[in-house]
Amino acid sequence: MNTAVYAPSWPPVLVRMHERDNVAIVGNDGGLAAGTELPGPVGRGLVLRDKVPQAHKVSLADLKAGDAVLRYGIPIGYALADIAAGRWVHERLLRMPEARGLEGLPMAIAAKHTPAPLEGRTFQGYRNADGSVGTRNLLAISTTVQCVAGVLDAALERIRREMLPKYPHVDGVVGLEHSYGCGVAIEAPGAEIPIRTLRHLARNPNFGGEVMLLSLGCEKLQPDRLLPPGSIELRGSTVADRGTPGNSFGHVRLQDDTHVGFGAMMTAILAQAESHLERLNRRRRETVPASELVVGMQCGGSDAFSGVTANPAVGFCTDLLVRAGATVMFSETTEVRDAVEQLTARAATPQVAARIVEEMAWYDAYLARGAVDRSANTTPGNKAGGLSNIVEKAMGSIVKSGSVPIDGVLSPGEHLNGRRGLFYAATPASDFICGTLQLASGMNLHVFTTGRGTPYGLAECPVVKVATQSRLARRWHDLMDLDAGAIANGTSTIEAMGWALFDKLLAVASGERTWAEKHGLANQLVLFNPAPVT
Ligand code: CA
Repeated sequence: MNTAVYAPSWPPVLVRMHERDNVAIVGNDGGLAAGTELPGPVGRGLVLRDKVPQAHKVSLADLKAGDAVLRYGIPIGYALADIAAGRWVHERLLRMPEARGLEGLPMAIAAKHTPAPLEGRTFQGYRNADGSVGTRNLLAISTTVQCVAGVLDAALERIRREMLPKYPHVDGVVGLEHSYGCGVAIEAPGAEIPIRTLRHLARNPNFGGEVMLLSLGCEKLQPDRLLPPGSIELRGSTVADRGTPGNSFGHVRLQDDTHVGFGAMMTAILAQAESHLERLNRRRRETVPASELVVGMQCGGSDAFSGVTANPAVGFCTDLLVRAGATVMFSETTEVRDAVEQLTARAATPQVAARIVEEMAWYDAYLARGAVDRSANTTPGNKAGGLSNIVEKAMGSIVKSGSVPIDGVLSPGEHLNGRRGLFYAATPASDFICGTLQLASGMNLHVFTTGRGTPYGLAECPVVKVATQSRLARRWHDLMDLDAGAIANGTSTIEAMGWALFDKLLAVASGERTWAEKHGLANQLVLFNPAPVT
């Protein structure tokens, strides 16, 4: 913390999420010094007994050992010793609540309010033959196996340097590289997850219905297994005439006898790329309704402000998007597991609630096999940022899903297939795995909130990054796309920030570049493979 640059701001700011809460968050840059008098109805004139860092909790009442510490109106922990009012409440003073079981949950019982439709909102997008809409016009090259990655990287460099300048309406070329495809137990339970993820990635709306595949020849994940006829409508050539309208398909296999040496492989790949680039280059943006957005919500590098500023604003925006007919996915199973009761209650139907339980139970068993539990989620950075444990993190994470009913559930890597509304896409919380799985489900726009700060980006889809605090937004002024810290400063509100994000999303979907795009920042795709490696 560089207090030489950012002296503690004044007056003291306290943020409480629920009227029952007996702790509140310190809003001020640089935290608050011991002896500070806490303001307003929340602070009730209490005097701080400790120096409390920004985004950390201060106790608003005298707590006895064993008392529940309430935030978001629910217990995020139990006091291990007496905690006097005005003390800094950090994770070493708390015992974490037991995990909620999956029996006897409230199923689809929340009052269903149908918010008024939000009409007339549009963006400029690329319509695809399958009915989906892209926010970018990218050539994607799928791969069956990691073995081809080096050759593909060499080809990508030449495509970017020699070919893309000739196709100005193409936004870029991406290699869908991964570590799967061989040396894996491809028939084992769970193997369907990485395979369908790769299959569905190939048809992401930002790739314009052009499917180009690079394979090796001897790998376990054969092209017909990755893209079985009928699994995705393919029109085209090279390996087989698929004979149906839909995506244009092209395939280069490195072990083919016709490729005599590296030069011949490159020639084949570049020729195949050229035919896709020619078609992509003829595409133009057109006005489409906001309902064509498929937005994946995620957080990473969270702090205690994530659940106070950015995530509530994202939740407000989620409601706006769903009201506009768009599709929103929220994910990160380990980060919402402790809020399972709220999710099942909000399910649109008992069937959806049962699917939520099914995915949570699968993940509980997956973690149990690895002899870990949900407490493994929180990072040292989370704790330094004021998040005591996964329960507190979960409550701040789930607010990204807004307040509308949950319309459906996606297993990891499952495709939306045209379904709309609010979806719980069950994924791990890992930023890269979650992003990869949301891309496979059909995401064409990504929202990412961060408090600690991460330069996360994806080559396949724009990522709008929202800072939870102004201190980060100032320091990373050319990395963060929106500063939700203004909510804690009192210069904006959750509603105003939610609308600002909604407008930003329509602009980015129409072609406005994010900071990560301007700098060319992109993380690798990372597959979720719960099956054994051989
Ligand atoms: Ca994450």
